[in-house]
Amino acid sequence: MRVLIASSEAITYCKTGGLADVAGVLFKELNVMNIDARLILPLYGSISRDFELTDTGIELRIFLDRRFYSGRVYTHNKAIFIGCDELYGREGLYGDKTGDFADNALRFSYFCKAVIEVCKAIDFRPDIIHLNDWQTSLVPLYLRKEYSGDDFFRDTLTLLTIHNLGYQGLFPPEDLSATGLGQEVFNPDGIEFYGKVNFLKAGILYADILSTVSRKYAEEITTTEYGFGLDGILKKRSADLFGILNGIDYREWSPEVDKLIQSRYSAEDLKGKALCKEKLMKQCNIKLKKGAPLLAFVGRLSVQKGVELIIEGLDKLIGYGCGVILLGTGTKEAEESLLSISLEGRENLYIRLDFDEVFAHSVYAGSDMVMMPSRYEPCGLVQMIALRYGTVPVARNTGGLSDTIEDYNALSDTGTGFLFDDYNLAVFLESIKRALTLYPFSRRWQKLMKRGMEKDFSWRRFASEYVELYKKALKERLK
Ligand code: ADP
Repeated sequence: MRVLIASSEAITYCKTGGLADVAGVLFKELNVMNIDARLILPLYGSISRDFELTDTGIELRIFLDRRFYSGRVYTHNKAIFIGCDELYGREGLYGDKTGDFADNALRFSYFCKAVIEVCKAIDFRPDIIHLNDWQTSLVPLYLRKEYSGDDFFRDTLTLLTIHNLGYQGLFPPEDLSATGLGQEVFNPDGIEFYGKVNFLKAGILYADILSTVSRKYAEEITTTEYGFGLDGILKKRSADLFGILNGIDYREWSPEVDKLIQSRYSAEDLKGKALCKEKLMKQCNIKLKKGAPLLAFVGRLSVQKGVELIIEGLDKLIGYGCGVILLGTGTKEAEESLLSISLEGRENLYIRLDFDEVFAHSVYAGSDMVMMPSRYEPCGLVQMIALRYGTVPVARNTGGLSDTIEDYNALSDTGTGFLFDDYNLAVFLESIKRALTLYPFSRRWQKLMKRGMEKDFSWRRFASEYVELYKKALKERLK
């Protein structure tokens, strides 16, 4: 089977979020499984600087927005890069400190066209083109509109994975010309969305199959509450919509082997975790009473992640005797609102507004709990990592959090974390209090930690599930 994974980011080449982990590791795992998988990415400035690429000599000339844009194809092992300096040769994947790049519609239209043209240029006929998020969502529409008579793609199916419906690639109507598409697709049955151009909608309408990153989220996005206005068309396509949970790379994220933490530990021997906590508290200048818990938040500071509940609840959390560590980056407003929090009288609070993967390892290992009061959470990697490190999640019962965390039940002494339903401060704090009530009962708490540590959310499982989905789609097409 031949699979082309098209993504706007993928480890180890470039990363701003969970999408990079999924695309990069899927690429690697598929090849381990003897599937001929290629990965295709835009050649951002940082990649040309950090990697030694092979110049294939292949040139692309793509007509968009009333002129030709020239590009060049590079490779690094089985990864393919679309070089076009005027579009990608800058710092930042989607924008810089001042916001999103103004030409993103053009940048990703070009990328979508290039995904198709490269297949022909290198004579790679994919059985599946696996697309990810809005940045690659025009591919199925281009295939349908401009390549429908092209024999080259006769046997190719497209799968679009939606990692986060909250990001749709919405652009003003003037940007239609950047896509090279005509007015005939700009209507409510096409890619128009309340007067704007919506890239993701093109993928939802025209990809052969759709998936998202947890089963629960696959259901949620067909409802008005979680559908961001696209629930109607998602509902229509629900027979083609599947949920496949992401996974984590246990070679990187396991306390047994993690070289970035103070002391290694396992479910059988948890002693090292106490040392990690000690070191982390020292590093963050947090002084807790003996036996008091350390709570952490790791992630994007965005409305989605429910940071406002944490900010509003900070005084209460500290008042309960907890230490609190916040590690995240986000919008200017979110960062400013966190910076404006006075540390005075809040000795046990540590905030780091930075993307710091090394520090994140220490936070996962040294904390007792992670907080994830997300408004919505397509999958979430943070809780999966935390579970592996025996760091108990307190999370909202939504999306991937529902699929990966089992709520603690005191009667049966089962579960791996604490879930709450309603998005409001009182309910969130109630679930924190449930956790704090159990915390002093160390035998029960340790059993809870161990149950979480033993869960398997590995990449292996998740890559095999994608392969099953590819096979199912190809088989159905043959019918
Ligand atoms: P997202 O919605 O941002 O993709 P996920 O939970 O799926 O959220 O993935 C977030 C990933 O990024 C996790 O691996 C998490 O550890 C990492 N991460 C998020 N914020 C930070 C940060 N400030 N520093 C280090 N790692 C971070």
